[in-house]
Formats: sequence, C-alpha cells, structure tokens
Amino acid sequence: MKELNIETKCIQAGYVPGNGEPRQIPIIQSTTFKYDTSEDMGKLFDLEASGYFYTRLQNPTNDFVASKIAALEGGTAAMLTSSGQAANFYSIFNIASCGDHIVCASAVYGGTFNLFSVTMKRMGIEFTFVSPYCSDEELEQAFKPNTKAVFGETIANPALIVLDIERFAKAAHNHGVPLIIDNTFATPFLCRPFEFGADIVTHSTTKYMDGHGSGVGGCIVDSGKFDWNKYADKFPGLTTPDESYHGVTYTERFGLEGAFITKATAQLMRDFGSIQSPQNAYLLNLGLESLHVRMERHSENALKIATFLSNHPLVSWVKYSGLKGDKDYDLAMKYLPKGQCGVVSFGVKGGRKAAEAFMKQLKLASVETHVADAKTCCLHPASATHRQMSDDELVAAGVSPDLIRLSVGIENVDDLICDLDQALNTLK
Ligand SMILES: *Cc1c(COP(=O)(O)O)cnc(C)c1O
Repeated sequence: MKELNIETKCIQAGYVPGNGEPRQIPIIQSTTFKYDTSEDMGKLFDLEASGYFYTRLQNPTNDFVASKIAALEGGTAAMLTSSGQAANFYSIFNIASCGDHIVCASAVYGGTFNLFSVTMKRMGIEFTFVSPYCSDEELEQAFKPNTKAVFGETIANPALIVLDIERFAKAAHNHGVPLIIDNTFATPFLCRPFEFGADIVTHSTTKYMDGHGSGVGGCIVDSGKFDWNKYADKFPGLTTPDESYHGVTYTERFGLEGAFITKATAQLMRDFGSIQSPQNAYLLNLGLESLHVRMERHSENALKIATFLSNHPLVSWVKYSGLKGDKDYDLAMKYLPKGQCGVVSFGVKGGRKAAEAFMKQLKLASVETHVADAKTCCLHPASATHRQMSDDELVAAGVSPDLIRLSVGIENVDDLICDLDQALNTLK
C-alpha cells in the first residue's frame, strides 16, 4: 500500500489491534510487568530484548501514541514525556552536557527560554540566542567548537515568527550538529520539519495535539537521518559504550533510526522519570484522532479574525503569518501552506492598559495561560508568562508590552468576531 495520507494516520497509525483485541488503544494502568524467569527480565535490563518492565521507563499505551506521532511527523522513533518542558530538556540533554554549547533562535516559548538560559545554564550548558531574522553571517558567528545542536520553533510562541527551517538546518549541518525543532504550534498537520532538514522534533502535546485542555504532555520524535557516527567525537554518548547498560553503543545496536530515542529512554527516562501517565496518553490519542479536522478550522477561523482585527480602527497592529503583507507571509506560504494555526497576536490602541481593559470585556474568550485549545482564550504575556523577562529580552523574544495573544478556537467564527468587536468598542 502507498504511504498513507496524514488524515488517515491521525486515526489509524500507531496501534493495530489483533483479532479480538480492543479497537481503542487500551490504557495499561500498570507500574510493572511480569516475567517467568530472571533471565527473561535480565535481557531487558541489558537492552538485548525489547519489552516492558517498569512504567517509569516505558509503557505500552504511551508507545502506541508515540508511534502515531512518529508516523505523523515522518520520523523513525518517538517517546512521550510528562510535559513539553521535559521534551525540550531531554532533546538537548540527550546530546549535550556540562561544557557544551547550543545555538537557539531567540523567539521561543518563555518556559523554554527560562529552561535554557537559567536552569540548563546552571548545569553548565551555554546557549547563544540569535534572532530568527539574523543574517547568514550572524548565524554563522553564533557557532563555537563545542556547539552540539541548533534549536528553534516552527511558529514561535507567542511571537508567531515563522522560522526559516531550511536555512537553520543548513547552518547546523555545516557545523556537524542536528537541528531540533519545537513543532508545537504547527503540528505535523500544518508542517513536517523533517521535510525541510530538521533532525529532531519536539512537542508540547498539551496544546493542539491534545486540543481540549485535558492533559499536560510532551513528545520527542527522531527523523533517524542525522549521522551521529560521522561526527562521533561530538556525540560520544551515542557512539561509545554506555557503561550503565553493560557497554552498549546506541548507534551500533539500534542504528541511526533508533539510537537517539533509545538513549533518551534508557538513560534520561530511567534517571529523571518524566514519563507521561498512560491515562494522559489515552486522552492525547483521542485528541490526535481529530487533529487534522481541528487544525483546518483553527487556521480558517484565525485568518478571518486576523483580517477582522487588521481592519479595526482600535487595533494598532496584528501579527499573523497568513495575512498578506505580514513579514513572515512568504515563509508561511512555504512552510505552512495549509494554514498557520489558531494563534493570532495583536496590540490595541492605548497599549498595556487598554490591553488589560479589553480582555476584561471578553465574554467568549477566557483569560488563560493556555493556548491551542478548542476553546478560544487569550493572554497578555508581558504580565503573565513572560513577566520574568526584561524589556530588552521581551523585544528579542518578539513580545511587545502591549501584545495580546489570542488563541482562536473552533467555535463559530462570527460569534467570536462579535465578542471581539463589542470588547474593542468599549475602549472608544
Ligand atoms: C507550552 C509550550 C511548551 C511547554 O510545554 P508544557 O507542556 O507546558 O510543558 C514548549 N514549547 C512550546 C512552543 C509551547 O507552546
């Protein structure tokens, strides 16, 4: 059979029940798994056989859902994590340690920025942040001999800047390191970064993948394409024996298609234990079953709302890459031709104060730190998620003090526009 289309994968990939088995992914609510002999179990501990022994490392429900996400992204292996934060932390820490360096696009999620610039810095990993709009020369200058990866977001949260993935992939590959892309806002329905040269993809599944605000979670997907062996001296963790697993060398035993995720499972999940609960993985899968339908509607509603806002006299600016004339319109047409997701940001005339007054008047859009949900919601990042940042850091992250992030849901768009209109008119 030819390669299935993504809509079919959203429904069918990852779990194929056998004769008489449950049609829906079963929730394997068990911490441990039973074996007949110690030898059987010993093989699992030596990574000589694959199987389950303890849910802190792996659980079958999670693996069904992870394989679906791997299929959606076009990757070779994937793992679920307890949150998007854990996914991004693991994606870097799996290949970098104390004394290493990472190049990162400056327009990233506030939680990621804090994780990288504060917490991981304390672990001895240094990050250089570059503007997604930097010149090729500036990007080149950000690399150091100890650089181990490049990181960026397909659609930056909340700046909504579209990353030129091909350009960043080329720079990373010129330096013999992988490009890691947080694809949370685009989802594989709107963009598959591997098709543009990215090597590893991460997700906060908390957002569109779950889609209903029901479970925090994350995922890491490997394309299987990065040749760790070619740059073996940069990535000894993957290419030399792991003494904590009886000397297994991940690239040798699991190949390029399996090494990264196996190492992340065997070492990081074992030691940090940021596993997603099987219950949450089950809910995540319910969300994935309608991802393709929802992403179309989110994008369609958001474009209509962005157009409405950009014509409104009380709105000072609108950022939505699907709007003609937007700075990122050409990049959006290249990387996100099917839609640019449901998140729109804008400023109201009167700045920070007016933004807060406007949000109080909304009836349908609730004020939440959440985004990327079936239910429309909005946030003022400068007073919430990004409040740790200085004004300079805010500007570098593409977040102005008056920015309102509107996460357009899948309600009737005329109802949403009516709500925005009445709230804006109270500012007159
Ligand atoms: C929300 C978010 C994260 C963090 O995910 P959690 O599931 O909240 O831990 C990371 N990256 C992006 C782009 C996000 O939007």
